[in-house]
Amino acid sequence: MAERKFEKFRSPGKGNGLRATAPLLPGDLLYTAKPFAYTTCKSGGRLACDFCLGIPDRLLRCSSCKLVKYCGARCQKEAWPDHRKECKCLKSIQPKEPAETVRLVGRVIFKLLKDLPCPSEELYSLSELQSNISELSDEMREGFSQLAIMLQFYLQKEIPAPSHLPAGLNIFELFAKVACNTFSICNAEMQDVGAGIYPSMSLLNHDCNPNCIIVFEGKHLILRAAKEIQVEEELTTSYVNLMMPSKERQSELKRQYSFECKCRKCQTQAADELMVAGDKQAVMETKKAKSKALQLQLDGKWEQSLAICRSILNSNDGRLPDGNVYQVGVLDCAMDACISGCLYEEACMYGKRTLEAYRLHYPDMCPSKAIQLMKVGKLQYLHDKLPEALQTMKEALNILKVTHGQNHKLTLELMYMLKDCEAAKCTVK
Ligand SMILES: [Zn+2]
Ligand SMILES: [Zn+2]
Ligand SMILES: [Zn+2]
Repeated sequence: MAERKFEKFRSPGKGNGLRATAPLLPGDLLYTAKPFAYTTCKSGGRLACDFCLGIPDRLLRCSSCKLVKYCGARCQKEAWPDHRKECKCLKSIQPKEPAETVRLVGRVIFKLLKDLPCPSEELYSLSELQSNISELSDEMREGFSQLAIMLQFYLQKEIPAPSHLPAGLNIFELFAKVACNTFSICNAEMQDVGAGIYPSMSLLNHDCNPNCIIVFEGKHLILRAAKEIQVEEELTTSYVNLMMPSKERQSELKRQYSFECKCRKCQTQAADELMVAGDKQAVMETKKAKSKALQLQLDGKWEQSLAICRSILNSNDGRLPDGNVYQVGVLDCAMDACISGCLYEEACMYGKRTLEAYRLHYPDMCPSKAIQLMKVGKLQYLHDKLPEALQTMKEALNILKVTHGQNHKLTLELMYMLKDCEAAKCTVK
């Protein structure tokens, strides 16, 4: 890779951070990192390949633990050095299964025992990661103690006594570190497929209007500039979903990362008014309806989920604008339920309505916004709404080129779709 264009520095009031050492432009590729350790997570009930994190139609089970799955013999073979010890542990506690965090911490420990240099520790090592132990709530402490007990039970086959652990390792502290330094790994469709530790990237501090973005290619973390960045300017990403009013972002950041965000957006509470615009009672009802609709989708009850969405959207008519963040949550649910039931025209209508909030509340260059625009553009294309489809796809492409890069498979896929769409439009004329 070309010369690194950023460095570690002391960020006033934030501890360590990263800052630019050269002027950066939107879309500039800044870093690609391999995880120190990672695991899969359940995504909508479907598991990804334990090695490459792809979601193929068919997965093969590890013949020994029968729990971990791979897309094929090649991934299984490559995964074996990291799975060998874990496999014995997984087998030893069946029919129980470790929680995802316990499995991830187990992998961190096996990696530490190997004691090999890891490129993702180039700027910041696992041992340097913050644990925020002194800031933990009683609830978090209790949770980590429970997890530590589960971990001991899970690892007993390979680590029968504390003396077998890496020297000086404190399990409680390790759970605290993992909790505030884990990156959710999502695939190109923005579904969560895994969780990983990338120590050097933990140096990136949070901002609710960040100047960098992270996307993943399989298990690799890719960092890009989202804006023009001046020399010595701090690099920031967002730790939370930005489609939330400042109060909710703050409480999420406090709960999970133990800090108070003092960014401009939080201090001015600039976007809050638009985010929660509309009738207060309707907001309460919509929050409830959304969580119910989501749960039904997780249970595979798509029709019932759609019925709830239709009913609340109907009752919100004139009470909540589509730019309201709770309303957009329901619109998203309704779109997914319609897609699942092949009701594409209705899906297209909901999708179009979601865009108002996506445009209003996400930063200009944001992967979630690009993926949503692409999804809606596809639906419009399927429905012969060609001029609209073209416009939506072009908007998506401009963002994807920056967030994912010119050569990413999604960017290329969208370029082909746009060409098809343009050709179809000419034929219609
Ligand atoms: Zn695979
Ligand atoms: Zn296995
Ligand atoms: Zn903030």
